[in-house]
Parts: sequence; C-alpha cells; structure tokens
Amino acid sequence: MESSKSGISAEKLFKEGLGINYDDFTILDTSFTDIDREEINLETSLGKNVVLKTPIIASPMDTVTNAEMCIAIALQGGIGCIHYNFKNPDGSLDIDKQAEIVKQVKRFENGFIENPVTVSPEHKIYETIKIGEEHKVGKSAIDTFPVTENGKSHGKVVGILRKQDYSRTKHTNLMVKERMIPLEKLIMAEWPITLDEANDMLWDNHILSLPIVENGNLKYLVTRSDLDKNEEYPLATKDDKKRLRVLFAVETRPEIAYERLEKCFNAGADGCIIDTSQGYTKYERDMAKYIEKKYTDKLLIGGNISTKEACEALEKWGLDAYRCGQGSGSICTTAGAIGISSAPVSAVYDCAKTTKKMKTIADGGIKQVGDIVKALAVGADAVMLGNMLAGTEESPGDVIIDPQSGLPIKGYRGMGSKEANVSGIRGYSRLPQGFSGYVKYRDSIHEWVPLIIDGIISGFHVKNCKSIKEIHKKIDSGDLRFQINSSKQSKEKGLYGPL
Ligand code: GDP
Ligand code: 5GP
Repeated sequence: MESSKSGISAEKLFKEGLGINYDDFTILDTSFTDIDREEINLETSLGKNVVLKTPIIASPMDTVTNAEMCIAIALQGGIGCIHYNFKNPDGSLDIDKQAEIVKQVKRFENGFIENPVTVSPEHKIYETIKIGEEHKVGKSAIDTFPVTENGKSHGKVVGILRKQDYSRTKHTNLMVKERMIPLEKLIMAEWPITLDEANDMLWDNHILSLPIVENGNLKYLVTRSDLDKNEEYPLATKDDKKRLRVLFAVETRPEIAYERLEKCFNAGADGCIIDTSQGYTKYERDMAKYIEKKYTDKLLIGGNISTKEACEALEKWGLDAYRCGQGSGSICTTAGAIGISSAPVSAVYDCAKTTKKMKTIADGGIKQVGDIVKALAVGADAVMLGNMLAGTEESPGDVIIDPQSGLPIKGYRGMGSKEANVSGIRGYSRLPQGFSGYVKYRDSIHEWVPLIIDGIISGFHVKNCKSIKEIHKKIDSGDLRFQINSSKQSKEKGLYGPL
C-alpha cells in the first residue's frame, strides 16, 4: 500500500506530465542488505552477444571518444563509440579516419594477431622503427617484427627483429638481416596450436613473442604483452578473437552512411549507432532497416528518442538497443532552441517500461555517479556518458588551467554546437542545438572508471541488488521507493554541475 511504505512509488514519482531530472529525486534506503559487495555483478547485455561488465558507453562526441578513449573504456569493461566528425584539410568529411580508428582499437589487444606487421631482411633498421611508429598500438609503437623473405605479413619466415636486438644509436643504418634473430635460432610454433599452448610456449621459452607458421609461412603472432593486458584488465570488453570491442557512429544520410558502414565494418567494428538527435523519423527507420538486413550479426543501436511512441516504433525496426534522452545533455540547447525535449529520467522510465526487446541506454544529463545508479534503477541497461568522460586524460584535447579557479579543465562541446558542425554535418548550421564549454579534469579512465564502478556497487549494495536485472525487478515490484527533493536541495546539487 502506498501509505504504509516510506516515500513514494515509481508510478507516483513519474506521475503524468511531470518531467523528472536526476536532481529532482532520490532513492530511499528501504531494502535490508544481506549481500556482500563482492556478490554484485554489473554485467549487462546490449544485444547480439555484446556484453559489458561495466554498463558504460562513451558517447560519439569529438571531445570525448577517440581511439584512446575506446581502448581505455573497453579495457575497463565498457565500450566506446567513435564519432563521425572527421574532416579532410579541405573541410570535406573524412570517412577513412573513422575506419582507421576502428582498426587501431581492434589491433590493441589480441589472441592470435592475424596480420602481424612484418619487415624484410633488406629493410634498414631505421625504416623498421618508422614502420613501428606508423602502426602504433595504443600509445606505443610496435617494436617486434617477424622478418619474412618478401617482407609481407604471410611470407616465409626468416627471422625476428625485437627492440633488444639493436641499438638505436649504433645500428639504425644496418640491415634487418644483420641484427635479427635468424631462423635457425628462432623459437616458432607450427599451426594448428591453441592459444593456451602458444601462451605456455611463451612462458616455457622465456620469450615475449611467438611466430606461428604453416608450411614455413607466417600465419599469426602471439605476444606476452597480450597475456599481460589480459591479466591487468579482467573486465575488458572483447570479441571472440580476444580483440577489444568498438562501435562507430553513422549518420542517416545514405549517400555517406553506406560507404561509412562498409568501411568501418570491414575494419572490424562490432556495431554501430545511428547517430541522430531525432530517431523517430523515416530517415532512421530506413537506415535501421538497411543495416539490419545487410549487417545482420552486428550490434545495431538507434535513437535518440524519449517517448513511448517512438520506442514502440524503434522496436519494430529491428534495433537491438537505443539511446534514450532528447535535449537532456549538459551541453545541449535543444529544449530552448526547438521546444521539444524530455526530462531524462522520465524518458528512461517511460521507454524502458515500453520495450520488451530493446536495451535501454540512458543518454544525457548524467553528471555524477549517483545519477548512473538512478538511471539503472528506473530501467536503463547501460548509460552513455559525455560530460563525465570528457575531462579524462584519454579524451581528445589538452588540459588547460581555468584562469578563474586555477584548476585543470578540458574542453567539451555539443555535437550540435556551431563549433562541432563540420561542413554542416549535423544539419544545424543556422540553429545550433548545443554549445561549447569546459569540464574539470578527471585523471585517467583507468583511475576514474574504477571509482565510478565502486560508486555504482555501493548504490546496489544499499538496495541489496546483485545485478541490474535485480534492480529492474525492484522497480516492477514496487520495492524501489523514492523521495522528491525540495527545490532548495535541487539547487544545491546544481553547484556540482558540469561546467
Ligand atoms: P611490446 O610492447 O614491447 O610487447 O611490443 P610488441 O611490438 O610486441 O607489441 C605489443 C602489442 O601490440 C601486443 O598487445 C600486440 O597484440 C599488439 N599488436 C597488434 N598488432 C601487432 C603486430 O602486428 N605486431 C606486433 N608485434 N604487435 C602487435
Ligand atoms: P551529457 O553527458 O553531456 O549530459 O550528455 C551527452 C549526450 O548529449 C550525448 O550522448 C548526446 O546524446 C547528447 N548531445 C551531444 N551533443 C549534443 C548537442 O549539441 N545537442 C544536443 N541536443 N544533444 C547533444
């Protein structure tokens, strides 16, 4: 009964017509906690076998998600979506750049490296150093090169060149064959071999890399640093080849989108987000149907939407998940510009309740860890973050000192802002729906995301929930009880706002 329990139920909180923001309410501690923190598992599925151990997606924004962000957030159990705001020097769109970033992320961590970077015995050592730098993996240049007779990735193996084989001051003008470990001294494995067997060979032979050959030709390379990465980042979001997962954003305009889809999926992307601020349109419908039919096994995310009407439509278009939130981003001016938007928490509650098949991604307006707990509690399967990730070491852009506070900050801008609107890419050239600002510097993703996870686990612990599924059940059963904040409280919370 409503009156016999503390606070109010979800139905009452989201009563007709009232728009609820994250600062407007809190969740009450009405659950007796008899679980331990260690029992809590934040794993969530986005559809198509894409499972995240950390329910966080880095937003496709050009001040948030580049290769470094995608790598770091995936290592921490989330996933990044690469934006499409890359331009050529003449101002036109650069689709290849986005595909290149997909490749970079996919190359970061491996089981068997399928196309190892190789050199020929006649290469000069300074040339191999240059090649290594051109093929950066994360922040580091590649410095282990199988040497093949013709220099090609699957050529006949004749040796290996590692960084310990030459001096950067004395040997750079020598040829690879003068410093490489030659075939007769090289430890290799014959294909077929399992990854576990290959890893054992690395340990047994005290080596850092193992070429795997078939009839003398290079097939794969296995490295110790992949084993180390595997141990260091147990939450990492990986595909079945042990490569990090990554998404890319695609527009609804077919003349560009079709080429982008082809290039980014060929580069190995795991899925895409149809990136438009209004997802309830024929443009999104047509694009969703095209992608669903052509790239059947890839994760397909749509949006943005914020009402149950739109949600019902998207469900029919074959989307696996959708971004929920319109006009609620911290750098967003949509509500003022066009008068159409929704309070973010109401949107998540209404939509998540409506859809049976799609996964709900709460997007926009999340500025502190507690907001993530609230979003998950009212029905989200994952959250999409812009503001909370834009200030990290891995996001694009430099750290600067705020002249007023003296504190370190980083730039953050809406993708519908005048500044981000490369070549009229978003179609808002005359009516920006976002602006540019700064967010405080947050250190590395590898420091920040574990703190966020810790906070979410604390929230789940207080609510005695071992999983996102359990917290969703609590809202259905009426076990989640809420309190509406007074306007004074809401205002005070605003002090911790984004900019
Ligand atoms: P290390 O950092 O000294 O171990 O340098 P390596 O050159 O052995 O590269 C290590 C990392 O780069 C591993 O995680 C590999 O999976 C990854 N990697 C991706 N592609 C390649 C490649 O073509 N060659 C090499 N050597 N490593 C690659
Ligand atoms: P935030 O984390 O800043 O609260 O919200 C990020 C979200 O805002 C993004 O994932 C995206 O959905 C939305 N967004 C990004 N740029 C703009 C913009 O310029 N205008 C609007 N209306 N929304 C934006």
